[in-house]
Amino acid sequence: MNKIPMKTPLVEMDGDEMTRVMWGMIKEQLICPYVDLKTEYYDLGLPHREETKDQVTIDSALAAKKYGVAVKCATITPNADRVKEYNLSQMWKSPNGTIRAIMDGTVFRAPIIVKGITPYVSSWKKPITIARHAYGDIYKASETLVPAGSKAQICITLPDGSEKRVDLHTFECDGIVQEVYNLDDSIRAFAHSCFAFALDTKQDLWFSAKDTISKIYDRRFRDIFNEVYENEYKKAFEENGITYFYTLIDDAVARVIRSEGGFIWACKNYDGDVMSDMMATAFGSLGLMTSVLVAPDGSYEYEAAHGTVTRHYYQHLEGKPTSTNPIATIFAWTGALRKRGELDDIPELMSFADNLEKACIQTVEEGIMTKDLIGLSNLENKKGVYMAEFISAIASNLERMQK
Ligand code: NAP
Ligand code: MG
Repeated sequence: MNKIPMKTPLVEMDGDEMTRVMWGMIKEQLICPYVDLKTEYYDLGLPHREETKDQVTIDSALAAKKYGVAVKCATITPNADRVKEYNLSQMWKSPNGTIRAIMDGTVFRAPIIVKGITPYVSSWKKPITIARHAYGDIYKASETLVPAGSKAQICITLPDGSEKRVDLHTFECDGIVQEVYNLDDSIRAFAHSCFAFALDTKQDLWFSAKDTISKIYDRRFRDIFNEVYENEYKKAFEENGITYFYTLIDDAVARVIRSEGGFIWACKNYDGDVMSDMMATAFGSLGLMTSVLVAPDGSYEYEAAHGTVTRHYYQHLEGKPTSTNPIATIFAWTGALRKRGELDDIPELMSFADNLEKACIQTVEEGIMTKDLIGLSNLENKKGVYMAEFISAIASNLERMQK
């Protein structure tokens, strides 16, 4: 059989622990037998980040911008324990944070829907994708404790040196103060990524905030979204039969629960943080949650939403088989391959990606699944298997489809 050729390399960002083990198996058993895989490889595993003083992470993000499509394995974000475990010279920053800062992108998280694994909300038939504005607000806030009798103001020194003061509160008792900010450029980039991703995936876009209460701050988000939409995307949305609307976060929450899914929900930073955890739980398993970083310049980085599954890795090191779910990582690969196929006009690569996804879903729908899914599945003939057996079952289904 002839392998499917590729024109432009994918930027491959390898990672850590159990997901690194899984990464190798996915490539060897599910992709390389069918695709003449071309990648530019970056090893983001923690030992190599240490060796390169984290330069490899920066290089990989620049490569993602250069080539336009990257696929990333989960990576360890070091904490004090990891510094000891890996004998690190520094507590290196989160690779995802570094990559996101360079690509200036927005993260879209969407669940994979499988028959037999029903979401807690029974009306949800299609995935709901959450887009989180991953910049500013309380994540960059300044906070302080304030003693009784204090008067709090914000003082802004304007470019001409003059001062602008905003009264916050006069404290009759002890209290607290928090100040947040955001940037028009960042909000605009977020809006562009959301509109572009909605067009790319042909889904409606919702944006929610709290501008009835926050009449300047949240209103600014709403206005920028509206301006970007009216000036640059409205026509394309109409041509594609999709819609954009703004609604209050309270209203959005109610509508989401009543909806049948199939849209993108753009959220401010905190809302997106909380809502994406709720969505992951309500839809089922972290092992079924995909994630893609979309940059305003149109480059993409695909990954699974879960981490390196450390607990399973330690079992693996003891020589024990684990029942780690590879589906979200496989979908990171299929997302990237399909996008590469689309950009380079390789229809066989796109249909291969479709088939590999179908093979995963079919395997679970036939009752063969990893243990994280067993408790969620309502199939009668379900059987919990280890990861190796699960990947083999997917490989057999894929082989039939690719014939
Ligand atoms: P995690 O790796 O997502 O795992 C948390 C737990 O969720 C696992 O112990 C497992 O539960 C379950 N789980 C997650 N993915 C699974 C899968 N594919 N199949 C089966 N079960 C799965 O999160 P963590 O343990 O908090 O973090 C581990 C490391 O990952 C950390 O070093 C963290 O920095 C890193 N991390 C990286 C990323 C990223 O690169 N995008 C994201 C998050 C975390 P059971 O143990 O109950 O089986
Ligand atoms: Mg969270």
